[in-house]
Amino acid sequence: MVKKTVKKAAKTAAKKAVKKAVKYVYSFGAGKAEGNGKMKELLGGKGANLAEMAGQLKLPVPPGFTITTEVCTYYWNNKRTYPKTLKADVEANLKKIERETKKQFGSEKNPLLVSVRSGARASMPGMMETILNIGLTEKTIPGMIAKTGDARFVYDAYRRLIMMYSDVVMEKAAGIEPKDGEGIRKILDGMLEELKNKLGVSDDTHIPAEELQKLCVQFKATVKKVLKKDFPDDPMEQLWGAIGAVFASWNGKRAIAYRNIENIPHDWGTAVNVQTMVFGNMGDTSATGVAFTRNPGTGDSHFYGEYLINAQGEDVVAGIRTPSPMNKWSANAHSKHLPTLEKVMPKVYKELDAIQKKLEKHFHDMLDIEFTIEDQKLWMLQCRVGKRNGTAAVQMALDMVKERLISKEEAVLRVTPTQLGELLLPAIDPKAEAGVKPIAQGLPAGPGGAAGKIVFNSLDAIKLQEAGQNAILVREETNPEDIEGMRAAAGILTQRGGMTSHAALVARGWGKCCIVGCGELEINLNAKTVKMGGKTFKEGDELTLNGTKGYVYEGALKMLAAGEGNKNLAAFLALCDKVRTMKVRANADTEEDAIKARKFGAEGIGLFRIEHMFYGKNSDKPLFILRKMILSGSEEERKAAVEELFPYMKKEIKATMKAMAGFGVTVRLMDPPLHEFVPTLPEKQAELAKALGITMDVFKDRAASLHEVNPMMGHRGIRLGVTYPEITTMQSRAIFESAAELIKEGVKAQPEVMIPLTCDVNEIISQKKLIRAAYDEVVAKTKVKKLNFSVGTMIEIPRAAVLAYEVAQETDFFSFGTNDLTQMTFGFSRDDIGSFLPEYLKQGILEADPFQTLDQRGVGMLIEHAVAEGRDAKPNLKVGICGEHGGDPESVEFCHREGFTYVSCSAFRVPIARLAAAQAAAKDVLAKKRK
Ligand code: ADP
Ligand code: MG
Ligand code: MG
Repeated sequence: MVKKTVKKAAKTAAKKAVKKAVKYVYSFGAGKAEGNGKMKELLGGKGANLAEMAGQLKLPVPPGFTITTEVCTYYWNNKRTYPKTLKADVEANLKKIERETKKQFGSEKNPLLVSVRSGARASMPGMMETILNIGLTEKTIPGMIAKTGDARFVYDAYRRLIMMYSDVVMEKAAGIEPKDGEGIRKILDGMLEELKNKLGVSDDTHIPAEELQKLCVQFKATVKKVLKKDFPDDPMEQLWGAIGAVFASWNGKRAIAYRNIENIPHDWGTAVNVQTMVFGNMGDTSATGVAFTRNPGTGDSHFYGEYLINAQGEDVVAGIRTPSPMNKWSANAHSKHLPTLEKVMPKVYKELDAIQKKLEKHFHDMLDIEFTIEDQKLWMLQCRVGKRNGTAAVQMALDMVKERLISKEEAVLRVTPTQLGELLLPAIDPKAEAGVKPIAQGLPAGPGGAAGKIVFNSLDAIKLQEAGQNAILVREETNPEDIEGMRAAAGILTQRGGMTSHAALVARGWGKCCIVGCGELEINLNAKTVKMGGKTFKEGDELTLNGTKGYVYEGALKMLAAGEGNKNLAAFLALCDKVRTMKVRANADTEEDAIKARKFGAEGIGLFRIEHMFYGKNSDKPLFILRKMILSGSEEERKAAVEELFPYMKKEIKATMKAMAGFGVTVRLMDPPLHEFVPTLPEKQAELAKALGITMDVFKDRAASLHEVNPMMGHRGIRLGVTYPEITTMQSRAIFESAAELIKEGVKAQPEVMIPLTCDVNEIISQKKLIRAAYDEVVAKTKVKKLNFSVGTMIEIPRAAVLAYEVAQETDFFSFGTNDLTQMTFGFSRDDIGSFLPEYLKQGILEADPFQTLDQRGVGMLIEHAVAEGRDAKPNLKVGICGEHGGDPESVEFCHREGFTYVSCSAFRVPIARLAAAQAAAKDVLAKKRK
């Protein structure tokens, strides 16, 4: 019965599929579009937004069509072939463009030229390929010249076509991998450079038509010689070659590397956009440009961008000429003397300005825009949500809330945890900077400061990073091949390029300190030296960059700590606090950390580890006493040691509670793996034996008896309190006496006692008796009033999570210790995971290291169960997390979903946790609104 229905359903589905062929091509242009901005998965980001601009917003977009990402998937799944219907679809859509433009592809008299552009779902700037001027052939060139009356323009377009096509289609897509600097593009670039030198012109727009024509002939001969193939002279062959190359480029080396860094899935595929060419290189009434609706480097809300007269395509981005500023807001040290678009073409500027405003209103975000002006007519070629650095992201989020362009929930979602992290990154100490003069100046492309050692290529930057050192990557200009080195470097410094150059774009996306267009650099790659400010620097010499101002300094200047004195940061975090519902606490074990945590906005301490006073600075004395306690042979001896320890504990607890006045401080009772504290140095052992009044033989016996086969599961945590109650009593007294004294001093102390490593409610009952007795004793002794306290437990053993209903009856709060809980749920030793985890990740058995990313499926299920059962037993049970995961945004979101009261993480992660908690809450609110 069931089987039959299934079969039938399959048959109908198959029939339907046959009837309704999959739509692989979507057209756009002239106020209409088959797709729209929501179809990014199918049309890619570029295609979807071209459709949105043409169809919804009725903006001037050159007509064209998009071949879907499904074709890319098909292409890679079917030995690089296309679906059967594609050819006819493409031809039909080409006809449609011909009708709209009244031009014909391949026509001798009135030829249509197109561009073939890649466009994945997520933008991958510069990673994939675009080819312009397709359709120029021996036959169509004369027609183009006759129509435009401009032979220089036509041969300029042709030489560009040859350069792009031979590089992208005939070399890269064909899988040819030339040696560094020997690629066809480099060779042809060299020929162009040589011609300019010979003619004595610095600007390629000054090469006369006949010289360009000759150059094209030489180009084609060179292509033939180097790549052993003729440059195709058939327009259709050019078109399909370009389409195939774009699909092929999806799995090009640098595209793969970029996706790995940006976590973009490899199976998404790219779409291909075929679009009517418009020409920014048709003389002085034409131009091409890139703009942002707001400044992506600072967040300033004015329209911002660059353009080049008489240029095409990526000339602006490639940094071939210094681009001119859109308006006065866009001028920088290099471009301030150049005429603005606002002055040169006021009408076009006005139109563009109106369009950018319309786009922001429509998309409710900052947009990155590409446009071309053909003989005073404006054409929109692309728009997408613009990449920005952390500083700009925060500024824009705050401004847009003020402008009522977005809600506060949307605003907190506009800044990623990584971007916020940038504002917490080092900057040069202004005091150090005030005392020195820059040795060079470039454009401030990526903010913040960086000090490090000079390297001249990506590989060396990576090597230095692996060695734990900071690299300053110095390049003439960066190109997409440098991507991994740019990532590895602490700062980037380039000789060429403008604010929209590749290096600037990428650096901004990552919030990396970057200076571009530092023209005075003289780089000698062979000698590995760079000259600036009249001095020669070698590889390994130190430099400091101020990416916010564009200044380069000699040597390594002092850096400032995170986020100091940043007003926007404070305002943005205040906005986060309005949106979030979960509290954020810090893990802090000292007064110093508590003060830091308060500065970062922590609302209490979620984990104060008592035993931390036995590590690090000033720990000699307490550690010695602790050792005495551990190695004592009788109860009296132990009690004496415990009493000796008391003042040290009290001092630390009191100071920390004072720093956290008004907020809860969760003090976790001692949880030391005992064997870790037995001294290993003979002289320390002797000293201890002497203090205990025992011989070395007895000492060694006692130490040996502490040895455990599996200390992680040994005599630690609450087990210590069960066997040695005086230890619990002493700690409780230290906590309550501190609090009582503070309260008498008028400080609001709120102690919370946390029991570690619980597996059964009876453990808690036993310890609570001791804690209560200590409390009564302190109250009686100090006569303090209003000393409140609570007792809770860590949930870090699966059994406690399973029996949470029972445990909650005896506790006021649960705090999930996800480090141990992960260890015990997986049965993976935290300390030994290194020997097998890499293989688990490599084989895909596990997706991530569960100690870094909370295992929401397994460990998460235990948590979910424990929260539900715990709240069932005690509806107002406080629930928190205090493991490493408390500062991981994804885990914070999980905690929000599970209804946690708070998350607790290390002090410097607190701002990130505040943001993550706000984002989790904002998603809830927005999802509800959508319903
Ligand atoms: P990317 O994805 O790297 O930004 P694009 O596909 O946007 O690549 O192409 C790069 C540039 O080429 C564009 O910014 C634009 O200047 C130019 N371009 C692309 N298509 C056309 C076209 N149809 N007419 C004129 N210029 C174009
Ligand atoms: Mg590009
Ligand atoms: Mg583009």
